[in-house]
Amino acid sequence: MSRIIVLDELTANRIAAGEVIERPASVVKELVENSLDAGSTHIDIEVAGGGLKLIQVTDDGTGISREDAALAFERHATSKIREATDLDSVGTFGFRGEALPSIASVARGELVTRPGDKLEGAMVAFSGGRLTELQDAGAPVGTRVVVRDLFFNTPARLKYLKSQAAETTQIVDVVYRLALANPGVSFRMTAEGRLILTTMGNNRVEDALAAIFGQELARETIRMDVSGSSPGIHGLIGKPEIARAGRQYQFFSVNGRVVKNRALGQAVEAAYRTLLPRHRYPFVVLDLTLPPAVVDVNVHPAKLEVRFQADRAVTDAVYAAVRRALKEVELIPRFDAGVVTGGINAGPGQAGPLPGGPMADEQETGETEHGRANPGTFLREAVMFPEYAVRSSGPGEPAAADSGSRGLFGAETDGESSEASFHLVPLGQVFRTYIVAEADQLYLVDQHAAHERILYEDILSRSGSTEVPSQEVLIPEEITVSFRERETLVNNIVTLRDLGFVVEEFGGNSFLLRAVPVYLIGEGVPFFREVLDLLEEESRGTSPAEIRDKVFQMAACRSAIKAGDTLRMPEMVQLLARLAACDNPYTCPHGRPTLVSLGRDELARRFKRL
Ligand code: ADP
Ligand code: MG
Repeated sequence: MSRIIVLDELTANRIAAGEVIERPASVVKELVENSLDAGSTHIDIEVAGGGLKLIQVTDDGTGISREDAALAFERHATSKIREATDLDSVGTFGFRGEALPSIASVARGELVTRPGDKLEGAMVAFSGGRLTELQDAGAPVGTRVVVRDLFFNTPARLKYLKSQAAETTQIVDVVYRLALANPGVSFRMTAEGRLILTTMGNNRVEDALAAIFGQELARETIRMDVSGSSPGIHGLIGKPEIARAGRQYQFFSVNGRVVKNRALGQAVEAAYRTLLPRHRYPFVVLDLTLPPAVVDVNVHPAKLEVRFQADRAVTDAVYAAVRRALKEVELIPRFDAGVVTGGINAGPGQAGPLPGGPMADEQETGETEHGRANPGTFLREAVMFPEYAVRSSGPGEPAAADSGSRGLFGAETDGESSEASFHLVPLGQVFRTYIVAEADQLYLVDQHAAHERILYEDILSRSGSTEVPSQEVLIPEEITVSFRERETLVNNIVTLRDLGFVVEEFGGNSFLLRAVPVYLIGEGVPFFREVLDLLEEESRGTSPAEIRDKVFQMAACRSAIKAGDTLRMPEMVQLLARLAACDNPYTCPHGRPTLVSLGRDELARRFKRL
């Protein structure tokens, strides 16, 4: 047994680095937080080799005086707090004085800095925990930290890292989160020489979001500003159309500090319930403002995922605010002026067609010939699955679940929700694509989108939460696959089983399809090939939940009635009734609207009755 010794400082630093600096993304986070703490308005981030070769962060903040420049690399050296009680009111991101020494102990590089009130700056070089140089240096006001050869002296840490591409992805994610939480600061980032992002720093989170995810997505968000109460809640929430297959698009911060917090996510998801199908997650960017005294930021060493104790009052406030914001927006897109043209294929018992519409000639045949020639895929499928309509709301609905919400589908529900209390009356079909229906307003329903939604939710409800149940086929079908298909198939045999496909080798390039997902109607092989294509296309980063969702969307799309299919009145009645029973009747699984409306007032206005 060896004697107990006190570790030397270098060794101690390296151990501490393991906690603070887990991976390249942690370095980026620490350096950017330092830049933010220094009051910077522009922060430039450059990375190469997944951050292992180079991480360079340049800011225009306060800078560090020459006297302090070396001190900044001492453990527990910080300018941000003075004593333990200050911890209760930390207003800065850093406060432990650990980041710079930890980074310096596992990399080589330098810090170049100049405060605004000095004509000359300073440069400190470091390597594996030792300061190798300290000298005067000409520099612009602000600070630049260059980190090279990260983890060069900790091979164990290197081994545990993922591919360079994966580390870059992590860095990008961290920078996105920091930029969204700090829209008042202009961020610029390049990776491997490619420009990844530039934000304006104009304090508009929608502009930061647009810079990251594009103008189109930013447009599909709703602004939220709740102030004057605690917590203040500011940011953007995505319309259901831009919901995602995973939770990685939920950006939360508390007083500008990026946090990951399940309770906040759950509160938001609860507020979207009934607007989103299962396995779809809202897109949100929210910053909460709370007095620093009630936020405990000192709970986690790595701080890459800072936790935050979200208590009931905070999550309830978030739930209520999101709920309110969602209610205020009109979820059904409206007609654009001048869209209503053309005639109507009236169904039986309805008034005749509007005169002169382009479809007027088809009127007669619409009901008879087309109807007979095309028995309607959806009726066939409806006969096979008669057990629709009954649906219960999910568990865990917060106590604050609203009562008496009024919607097109299921008017005046009181928590009971969507048991086909439907009142959309079909009048006929136009362009063999849309169903014209009347309720409180005039509606046009996209028959394909609507049927897709119905089938998609049906598939969801028939599939287990992880594995899709299979049904054995009576006579196993033989499939011959290409070389690439074979590879995909063999590599994904488990995924395929989870998706409900049971496949068996049959020699050479042949396989037997023994079982298919329960929800599948008709031939299994063509659909199976489509799924193989999808698996081949999807990058390895795609989560099983996303794959599954895509497969469900594909299945729904395949079996749904198409534009061009003629529908008879009973089919339309049933389609609308089943749409009404959906959890989210307003959009198809891809997020396109299932229906648009034209209000009574709008009509009156356009006929100059008002
Ligand atoms: P902490 O942020 O917890 O104080 P760090 O090790 O990250 O600890 O930084 C140590 C000190 O160095 C900070 O308290 C700050 O005074 C100074 N510093 C670090 N980076 C910068 C920067 N970009 N601009 C100005 N000062 C900085
Ligand atoms: Mg710091």
